[in-house]
Amino acid sequence: MTQPNLESLVPAYVREFEPYIPSRPDPELMKLYGCARLYRLNNNENPLGPPPGAQEVIRRFPPPQGAVYPSGDSYYLRQELGAVHGVDPGQILVGNGANEVIAFVIKAFCEQGDNIVTADKTFAVYEWVAVFSGIEARVIPLKDEGFDDAAMLAAIDPRTKILFVCNPNNPTGSYWTRERLRGFLAAVGGRRIVVVDEAYCEFVEQEDFPNGISLLGEYPNLVVFRTFSKMYGLAALRIGYLVGAPEVVDMIRRTCVVYSVNRIAQEAALAALKDDTGHIRRTRALVRTSRTFLRGELAKMGLPVIAGEGNYLIAKLPLSDTLAYRKLMREGIMIRPMTGFRCPNHIRITLAGQEAMEACVAALKKILP
Ligand SMILES: *Cc1c(COP(=O)(O)O)cnc(C)c1O
Repeated sequence: MTQPNLESLVPAYVREFEPYIPSRPDPELMKLYGCARLYRLNNNENPLGPPPGAQEVIRRFPPPQGAVYPSGDSYYLRQELGAVHGVDPGQILVGNGANEVIAFVIKAFCEQGDNIVTADKTFAVYEWVAVFSGIEARVIPLKDEGFDDAAMLAAIDPRTKILFVCNPNNPTGSYWTRERLRGFLAAVGGRRIVVVDEAYCEFVEQEDFPNGISLLGEYPNLVVFRTFSKMYGLAALRIGYLVGAPEVVDMIRRTCVVYSVNRIAQEAALAALKDDTGHIRRTRALVRTSRTFLRGELAKMGLPVIAGEGNYLIAKLPLSDTLAYRKLMREGIMIRPMTGFRCPNHIRITLAGQEAMEACVAALKKILP
């Protein structure tokens, strides 16, 4: 019997898509590279972990409750988020990480023939979800390491449905000021969705950095993403959300998968929001100290550095980033090679604790030619 050709079932845009290969679990990597300890500086995780109240929720989760489905729309969490942000809880959709809400938005607005506009060197998931959904992604080169508003506007055509702006940008740390974001929203007009991904907004301490949620009243086509993975240290639990105008959120809600957000995540996120122990202040102080330290050390080593907002910076190396990754892994340092962000020879390093930063500097000194 001949094998049926199942590949013919698959749309060309899926067949042609390169799957993302996740890295192996830490113990496997440690065996592979022969290191006794591994500093994870590749995913912008918070080395302080979740706020104490969220840790308590995780510790005390009643095991029999594992049998019971969670709230399908993160009811209590949205109540609290609504109060914190001064919006109606109906304007919020919670997802299995901000990654999932990206897919909600693209599914809600795009069909084949449509396009999205974003940058070439930014969080890649906007582009990936579009492309494997058969939607064109127009990736506009950064200008001066930031999103190029004029070029993004010029890329808009009648089939452009969504513009994605990462503010501050991962990986360059650049940001649009309030004035610049307003100017962009005004120029786009109300006929397309503008997504502002604020995954790292809690790290930014600049006066002129805009809170996208506060602009929702003026711009009903604006959608803001937030996550609990970075500042709130809940990456393992997978929880993030979007906020938008009621009519826009009512549309996006149709493409949401109910029950994709588990109960421990919902309760831990709620406790993280209510934390009053200074977790954000402590994390910001740690990031600030590490940014100054690491930037200084890299400069002494003669490595060009791009360090803006966010809990990460980029260093340019005199060798390939993928080779540097393997060499640093042998020293117990896991960084993010930037070839996947279209920045070969660059690595992104998470700003973590002093011990990790010193280990990273020592490893870099060892591997540099
Ligand atoms: C980490 C990250 C996200 C996604 O976070 P989740 O873990 O899926 O909530 C979204 N956008 C940017 C820019 C990020 O760096």
